[in-house]
Amino acid sequence: MPVLTTSNGNPVDYNQTSQTAGVNGPLAHFDRERIPERVVHAKGAGAHGYLEVTHDISKYTKAKLFNKVGKRTPLLIRFSTVGGEKGSADTERDPRNWDLVGNNTPVFFLRDPIKFPDFIHTQKKNPQTNLKDPDMTWDFLSLVPESLHQVSILFSDRGTPDGFRGMNGYGSHTFKLVNAKNEIHYCKFHFKTDQGIKNLTRPQASELAGKDPDHATRDLFNAIAKKDYPSWTLHIQVMPEADAQKYRWNIFDVTKVWPHGDYPLIPVGRMVLNRNPSNYFAEIEQAAFSPSHLVPGIEASVDRMLQGRLFSYPDTHRHRLGPNYTQIPVNRPQNTHVNTYQRDGLMCVNGNFGSAPNYEPNSFGGPTAVGPAVGITFTPMELNGTVGRFPIALSDADFKQPAKLYAIQSKEGQERMVGNLAAAISGAKPHIRRREMAHFKRSDKQWASRIEKELAKAVGSKI
Ligand code: NDP
Repeated sequence: MPVLTTSNGNPVDYNQTSQTAGVNGPLAHFDRERIPERVVHAKGAGAHGYLEVTHDISKYTKAKLFNKVGKRTPLLIRFSTVGGEKGSADTERDPRNWDLVGNNTPVFFLRDPIKFPDFIHTQKKNPQTNLKDPDMTWDFLSLVPESLHQVSILFSDRGTPDGFRGMNGYGSHTFKLVNAKNEIHYCKFHFKTDQGIKNLTRPQASELAGKDPDHATRDLFNAIAKKDYPSWTLHIQVMPEADAQKYRWNIFDVTKVWPHGDYPLIPVGRMVLNRNPSNYFAEIEQAAFSPSHLVPGIEASVDRMLQGRLFSYPDTHRHRLGPNYTQIPVNRPQNTHVNTYQRDGLMCVNGNFGSAPNYEPNSFGGPTAVGPAVGITFTPMELNGTVGRFPIALSDADFKQPAKLYAIQSKEGQERMVGNLAAAISGAKPHIRRREMAHFKRSDKQWASRIEKELAKAVGSKI
């Protein structure tokens, strides 16, 4: 058996009582075991696996991971809820986050990142009571009506998935695919579950929140442990660059989907999860994903929410894990050698590039950039216009897609959606309830009147 040591390698003589002077002793490392939980997406689970290419999409992208049918790229994925703390229940009605960036829903509540902190505050706890607060939630949502589409999905059956295996993943944002000729197609990513969609009803989700708040974490771990490997089929929707300006609505607005009728799903590959982490903290809690970690051939678009996330995700990692978070084994690039002029910082553990020059250009053999040839790492983009604050105006399109979603539900699905909405909105003050209901009325009068009827029952009066 190996000898037990201290963290700096000294042998330990006895580990059952502390060496103390008096009754108190050193517990210094234990006192520091916690790192800040993620501000959002604190509760999650993850696994290792691979993405296998099944269809050739090289006419859309030069990304090497897609350059050959049959190619497998190892991956790590983390699933999470959004608003809850690290110990919160997996079954909460909340979007499930996929770190693509993405969610288990194809749209988002907002289309401008400046509102993100406000929105998340309403999903967390009241600053006075430290309780979840339906007034905060519905006050904000009713004042931000472009949220209606995401609200509608959230209160459909898909708002409470039965574990992570039975849900789809969507890149949500509009990305750019760039091919070898530097031609651009705008793209949406879709991961469709091969397990079939599995959801919980409201009563089932509440019951599980009490009985097994780690239901989804357990389900994922146990399935992989018994070799029942979950998989998803990756599809893309692609839009030629020239279509973007002419399309019915702003394709950089993340509150809208691209109808499959306009841009059909194109199969790409299969993602399989086949290995559990051997240590949760090392591999999942410290995993640091960002939509700004892109490979040549996939680029960010001008989607405003995506632009906000490009900055905010790595910034939160610098806050939680330190400026050298990319040196942590789970975050370290796996198939390439890092050659950078970044130096120092908290927890620099890679040798800090020894005596190599720490500035560039230099005449001492330091690494040099591959450019400046155009299009190697990103395609140039012509921009003109006035810098300013330009809201994306509310329009009928903001209300049509929620109505379509309601229309495609089964009869029972519609009933549950109405019940879920009424139960949640009933917790808010009357003037807030009425403001939110006005948005449902603009979307679909019949749907709104059904919610109103249930709402009246729940609050025991006219809404
Ligand atoms: P389409 O007929 O082109 O697409 C319908 C898609 O909606 C389906 O392929 C399925 O996508 C998804 N869907 C089916 N049943 C449900 C359900 N009960 N809850 C949520 N989504 C469901 O019509 P549209 O593209 O115009 O979409 C109609 C509505 O469906 C949209 O307003 C949006 O709310 C929702 N939706 C659209 C998606 C898209 O990318 N167009 C993706 C997901 C939802 P999937 O197999 O991905 O679940």
